[in-house]
Amino acid sequence: MSDAKKIAVIAGDGIGPEVIAEAEKVLKRTEELFGYKFELEYGLFGGIAIDERGTPLPEDTLAICQKADAVLLGAVGGPKWDTNPKELRPETGLLGIRKALGLYANIRPAVIFDCLKEASTLKPEVLEGTDLIVVRELTGGIYFGDKLRREGPNGQEAVDTCTYSVKEVERIARSAFEIAKTRKKKVASVDKANVLETSRLWRETVIRVAADYPDVELEHVLVDNCAMQLLRRPSSFDVIVTENMFGDILSDEAAMLTGSIGMLSSASLGEGSFGLYEPIHGSAPDIAGKGVANPIATILSVALMFRLTFGYHEAAEAVEKAVKEVLDAGHRTWDIATDKSAAIGTGAMGDLIVAAIKA
Ligand code: NAD
Repeated sequence: MSDAKKIAVIAGDGIGPEVIAEAEKVLKRTEELFGYKFELEYGLFGGIAIDERGTPLPEDTLAICQKADAVLLGAVGGPKWDTNPKELRPETGLLGIRKALGLYANIRPAVIFDCLKEASTLKPEVLEGTDLIVVRELTGGIYFGDKLRREGPNGQEAVDTCTYSVKEVERIARSAFEIAKTRKKKVASVDKANVLETSRLWRETVIRVAADYPDVELEHVLVDNCAMQLLRRPSSFDVIVTENMFGDILSDEAAMLTGSIGMLSSASLGEGSFGLYEPIHGSAPDIAGKGVANPIATILSVALMFRLTFGYHEAAEAVEKAVKEVLDAGHRTWDIATDKSAAIGTGAMGDLIVAAIKA
C-alpha cells in the first residue's frame, strides 16, 4: 500500500465532465486492484468557471492544482464564450494554468492500435508497429518572443524573435532522455541547425545531455525531413524531442497518424514528477450531453499519469492492455466505428475498459 496520491480533477466544459467520469471509474478500479489510494479534489475551470465565478481560472482551483501530485483535466471551451474578451475566455485559463504550474514539457504519445489501422489515412503497412512520443518544449521559442513588433512605414514589416537558453534546452532534453530510457531507448532531436542559431544551440546542448545517457541512441533530424519521415517511416521513431513551434506542428501531424482525436492522451510536465494530464481533444460542443464521446483519450491520460508522475508502471500497462482488449473485441464508440449503428456510448465504453483491467 502506497501513500495517498492527490489528484486535482478538473472536468471543464462540453464533453469534459463525461470523459472525466469514465477516467474516475478507472482510478477507482486500480485502487481496488493494486492497493493504491487516490484523493480527488475537484476544481472549476474554463467556461463553467467564467459563468459561476467570473474568471476562467479561479484562485481556489489553482490552489487545488498546486497542492496536488497531478492534475487530470477534461476539456474547456465552447461557442458560448467564443466572443468574450480575452481575459474571459476559457483558452486564457488554459495558458494561465500551464504557466502558473511551470509546465514546460508537453508529451504526446501516438500509438497505433492494430485494429484501428484502417481509421488512418496512411496505408496500414506503413503504420505497422508505430508507437512514438513527441516531447515538445512548451514555454520558450518564437511563441514567447519578447521582441515581436511591426516595423517600417505603415507597419509593412513584422518581427518575431525566437530565443532559447541552454537551461531551457537542457531540461527538455533530459525529459526526453528519461522517457526514452523507459521505452525503446531512441531519441530523435528535431531542429533546423543548418539555418537557425537557436537550433545550433539546441543541437550542441542535446549532444551534451546525451553523454549522460549512453544507453540511449540519439539521432538529429532536420524539421522538414522529420515531417516527411513521420509519414514515410513512423514506426522507426521512439521519442521525438523538439522546440515549441516545431513541436506544435509535428505533434499534430503525429496525432493524425492514429486516425482519431478521441484516442490520444497528453501530459504537460514541469520540474519533478508533477504533471497535468488531458486528452488532446477539445470540449466537442457538437456532441456534448449526448453520451457518445470516446473516453479512451482521457483513460489513456490516466495511464500516462500512472507512468510519468506516480511510477505505477504495472497499472499503466494494465489500463493500456484493457483498452487494447476492448478494441480488439470489436467495441467502438461512434467516432471510431465503421458500423455506426453498432457504436456504444461513453459510459458503456468506460465500463468495458474498467472490467478488462487486470492486476
Ligand atoms: P474538438 O477537439 O473539441 O472537436 C473536433 C471534432 O472531434 C468534433 O467533431 C468533435 O465532436 C470530435 N471529438 C473531439 N473529441 C472527441 C471524443 N472524445 N469523442 C468523439 N469525438 C470527439 O475541437 P474544436 O471543435 O475545434 O473545439 C471545440 C472547443 O474546444 C473550442 O472551444 C476549443 O477552443 C476547445 N478546445 C479545448 C482544448 C482543451 O481544453 N485543451 C483543446 C482543443 C480545443
